[in-house]
Amino acid sequence: MEKSGSGRRKSHKVFVGNVCIGGDSPVVVQSMTNTKTDDIKSTVEQIRILSAAGCEIIRVAVPDKRSAESLYKIKEQINVPLVADIHFDYKLAILSIEHGADKIRINPGNIGSETRVLKILEKAAEKNIPVRIGVNSGSLEKDILSKFGHPGAEALAESAMRHVKFCEKNGFRNIVISVKASDVRVMIDANRIIAQKTDYPIHLGVTESGSVKTGAIRSAVGIGALLAQGIGDTIRVSLTGDPVEEIKAAFLILNSLHLRKRGATIISCPTCGRTETDVTGIVEELESELKNITKPIVVAVMGCAVNGPGEAREADIGVACGKREGLLFKKGEVIEKIPEKDIVKVLKQEIQNWQDNT
Ligand code: SF4
Repeated sequence: MEKSGSGRRKSHKVFVGNVCIGGDSPVVVQSMTNTKTDDIKSTVEQIRILSAAGCEIIRVAVPDKRSAESLYKIKEQINVPLVADIHFDYKLAILSIEHGADKIRINPGNIGSETRVLKILEKAAEKNIPVRIGVNSGSLEKDILSKFGHPGAEALAESAMRHVKFCEKNGFRNIVISVKASDVRVMIDANRIIAQKTDYPIHLGVTESGSVKTGAIRSAVGIGALLAQGIGDTIRVSLTGDPVEEIKAAFLILNSLHLRKRGATIISCPTCGRTETDVTGIVEELESELKNITKPIVVAVMGCAVNGPGEAREADIGVACGKREGLLFKKGEVIEKIPEKDIVKVLKQEIQNWQDNT
């Protein structure tokens, strides 16, 4: 696997509308709507909310003709590239491309035949849009399953590479690859194999990862482990719940690895027997107050003088608490002492000023 100067795996660029995936572009955040796609009003509304939260590419399910035919109307009301998610029916893929999809996501293994996959590739080539080859542990081809016995990492990688080779054989290289599994270890290993074998951009995700809380942790482990090795060009955190939570989790993962900078990162201590201020209450209140902050900022809320001043000093804005009070730091400088009851109010104001002036 060849790596760039930044330590990321070298991949070639693919454009989804005006968003670039791969090469030296930032890791792109995606999500998927959970509305009925042919309910254009609700779908557009959700895409706008997701886009405001930071979603950069949006995918919609296209299970029928009406959904495919809705894509044009959806597209003209949004400002992020639109991806059509297709299973089983190649005609829906072709119809979606004709109705303006910026990318098609297929699992070639469930499209029915190579002839049908080829028809999709020809249409995508005609409109110059990419196709994501999306292989999932839940829908592997029978011959691969019987060869490997179970949907492990090698089986997933072989399935994906088989489809990639078919595309290449037919002169189609506008490809993004994803190999997703609900087993985090399998997902990590499968992507490592793919990363060694090709330089197509890779879309990362742990599929069916679970609820907002557990799914975010499982996704952070799988996606984070690969990103930390330089593998991955775009990510989707799949969660059972409001897709806005997927975007928040995605940026937390990317912020943690310094791959993107967006929104507030709160550094707070776990509290212990030394804590004499309600750090937990302050952090909970602050977290809900800061959910709409988009510019990057690091805010530290620390419980005492052990690590408090050190962390607060390193943050953009920080408070090191003492006995029912806190010492406010701004860019490493001590500003003032604040009584406990005013800590959230003062931090909120300082963060707002920071947002307005940076
Ligand atoms: S910063 Fe202080 S209060 Fe917080 S966990 Fe560490 S020692 Fe305990």
